[in-house]
Amino acid sequence: MQLKSLRVKMDRSINFFSESIADEVGNTPLIKLKKASEITQCSILGKAEFLNPGQSVKDRAALYIINELEKNNDLNNKIIVEGTGGNTGIGLTVIGSAKGYKTIIVMPNDQSQEKIVLLKQLGAEVVLTEKAPFTDNKNYIQLSKKIAQEKNANWSNQFDNLANRKAHIETTSREIWEQTQGKIDAFICSIGTGGTLAGNFLGLKHKNKNIKIFCADPYGSGMYSYIRKGNSKAAYSSITEGIGQSRITKNIEGIEFDGAFKISDQSALNIIYDLIREEGLFLGPSSGINIAGAIKLARHLGPNKTIVTVLCDYAGRYSNKIFNKEYLTSKGLTYPNWL
Ligand code: PMP
Repeated sequence: MQLKSLRVKMDRSINFFSESIADEVGNTPLIKLKKASEITQCSILGKAEFLNPGQSVKDRAALYIINELEKNNDLNNKIIVEGTGGNTGIGLTVIGSAKGYKTIIVMPNDQSQEKIVLLKQLGAEVVLTEKAPFTDNKNYIQLSKKIAQEKNANWSNQFDNLANRKAHIETTSREIWEQTQGKIDAFICSIGTGGTLAGNFLGLKHKNKNIKIFCADPYGSGMYSYIRKGNSKAAYSSITEGIGQSRITKNIEGIEFDGAFKISDQSALNIIYDLIREEGLFLGPSSGINIAGAIKLARHLGPNKTIVTVLCDYAGRYSNKIFNKEYLTSKGLTYPNWL
């Protein structure tokens, strides 16, 4: 049965104002992706996470992590330190500012300039480090832990902090269940920390264990081989940011996902470019990986299914990469003739 689109303004029309921007995290719309749905004869729906206050899916984890620190009275010195590809840092900084906290954000230096500049404009102290394996002292996660210890500040530790996936159990999956009126067959997204996929796995399976939960994995990430073969071997590389993982984080530990698809950067980019011109959606590369995964999943499950995925952030966060012909050519990637 085809799902009917019904947009009812709920919470926001009842409240006259919000106490702060932190109250505006979540309750994002679910938007039908027209072309993806048409070519698969399924309803492919995207959760519009770019509409969060910090303009990404990571606001949810940031809010839950801060709330948990507050609950445990851990925020006395008012400084939060995090290692991040950028989006969690942006979420922590926006919500942190609204609640009176400062942030120190540690990032690998290959992440987009747009995110680094935005973090500084938002008032974060940004520390850049070279790209290094997880066990190396220079690794951004290890460095963020060290800085937090040295400054006696709070390390938010998104990769292994279960408040991250709890945000998606209690908010994202509940919203998706309500927005689809329980008529959802599958959910798919990529893994960075794994909070989004694991939280929706736990939340949606609790409602209906038959809902299939799949991972869309970019090249250079070990999650496809972890889910399909049990070892997290990564091969090649990807221009995507914020996704891909070769470690079994606490957020995904013990979870048996239903399957995974490997997605190339080119197929993600082709979707991103088409969505801009054909559907008015201006999305970053991880959303392209997710939608390409949703299309593969639709073909795998057959017609007339409802599949939900995540529209993580805006394309503008990656302009110097995804709209830069020289950069794309240097990576062996093609771009549309309108670029
Ligand atoms: N897309 C983008 C753009 C991100 O920044 C992130 C988080 N790093 C993700 C997807 C993945 O989310 P999660 O950490 O919940 O796996």
